[in-house]
Amino acid sequence: MIVYLDNAATTPLDERVFEAMKPYLLQNHGNPSSIHQHGRMVRSAVERARKTVADILNVAPAEVFFTSGGTETNNTIIKNAIKSRGITHAITSKIEHHAVLHALEYLQKEGKIALHFVEMDGRGRLDLVSLQKLLQTHRPAFVSLMHANNEIGNYNDVQLIGELCRENQAFFHSDMVQSLGHTDIDLSKLNIHSIAGSAHKFHGPKGIGLMYINAEMRIPPLLIGGGQERNMRGGTENVAGIIGLAKALELAYAEKEANQNHLLQLKNYTIHKLSEKFSDICYNGLSADLENSLHKVLSLSIPGIDDNDMLLFNLDINGISVSGGSACASGTSIGSHVLDALHLPPNTGALRVSFSKFNTQEEIDYFIEKLAVAIL
Ligand code: PLP
Repeated sequence: MIVYLDNAATTPLDERVFEAMKPYLLQNHGNPSSIHQHGRMVRSAVERARKTVADILNVAPAEVFFTSGGTETNNTIIKNAIKSRGITHAITSKIEHHAVLHALEYLQKEGKIALHFVEMDGRGRLDLVSLQKLLQTHRPAFVSLMHANNEIGNYNDVQLIGELCRENQAFFHSDMVQSLGHTDIDLSKLNIHSIAGSAHKFHGPKGIGLMYINAEMRIPPLLIGGGQERNMRGGTENVAGIIGLAKALELAYAEKEANQNHLLQLKNYTIHKLSEKFSDICYNGLSADLENSLHKVLSLSIPGIDDNDMLLFNLDINGISVSGGSACASGTSIGSHVLDALHLPPNTGALRVSFSKFNTQEEIDYFIEKLAVAIL
């Protein structure tokens, strides 16, 4: 049996998305910047895709830009919102994705910003009092706090964070790569100035993402070129990718309830079965808290897993793809910075199991059976 349980890393393309993209790979090959008919028809498809995305997020199409993915969007916003606004303080958390953390650390190293971290507890819950203090001390600040964490699934309360940022005139960017396509996001109701999204996390193609920037918070582009994306991102558009992103997002929200019920049921089932089999299992972060974490992510540690690589290898040879991670002794380059930040005992092995709408209960049974053989 081949079982893919690494959907927080990337998801398989939905065939309907592929069908929507196909004409833009095979027939409609015009460059959207060309003014002849081949170009014009592709341009209108790109603008329809932008409108689809904008409607889902409840923003204006002019506030949506297509990029190569979450990494590019986070880099664009972090580097250029900070630079163009003359901001000298940035606030983030230790469990952000490296696309955020490393971009901020780069600016810190260059002497452009002082970097501050919001305190959090051992389950990765942000201490909003600590955020408030940082915001009051460092005005105006750039804040980058993700909507949902890719390793432990924790949701952050972006509504409340947005309010705190508004009160303290901070620029609020949120990496929504893991939550977009999985939970409702109405940006008209949130004080968020920019977000990052990525199609391959919701059954779209890889290498295409989106950037929302509030119309009142314009920033310069990172990639300078032919003035594409209304001068916000130079480079000929990844047309098929854009069509695929919009189709995948449309499907994700049209079918959200059914998908979420399925994921919730799978997660519940997995927790139940694992807890039955391994009495000393621990779930990391809020990943076993069904209300406050992504339904697709479950992070677990089982005492006695001291060689995580061997366990992953063992599962892999049985056809099972999951993700690993460990809290590493400080100073080593391997391991998970997220689990480290939760202060898990050093070398605690962890597995991240992440589900999609395509997974079944039989696959979970198979995974648990092989996990038990490997550990017990
Ligand atoms: N942010 C988060 C939270 C992610 O999980 C990822 C991908 O794993 C990224 C950013 C990077 O996105 P991309 O792969 O589109 O560059």
